[in-house]
Amino acid sequence: MITLHEVYEQGSEAVKAAVRSFGARHPVAGTDPDAEPDWKKAEQHFTHLIEVIMGASAFALPRTADIVRRAEREAVGFLLAVDGPAGYRCPICVKQQGSTR
Ligand SMILES: [Zn+2]
Repeated sequence: MITLHEVYEQGSEAVKAAVRSFGARHPVAGTDPDAEPDWKKAEQHFTHLIEVIMGASAFALPRTADIVRRAEREAVGFLLAVDGPAGYRCPICVKQQGSTR
């Protein structure tokens, strides 16, 4: 499966900006807001996002390379769609926080 880092490396300027923005949704706890985000966490959540998309689209079907590629594209599309000046919360963070409360 593609990683967030690979998406960044291969992406257009818009994709790069969306990846940076997604990373910024994952600040390292206890550090100042200008510090580098928690990229490890952002990576995990991006992978999780792809899995969620695949789970929804690949119900009874075997997990083919084609399905994986489509899910990866959709995950990148999601990052581009939600990126904006208003900011947003990572859906995986929201999900995890929701389940622990
Ligand atoms: Zn997250």
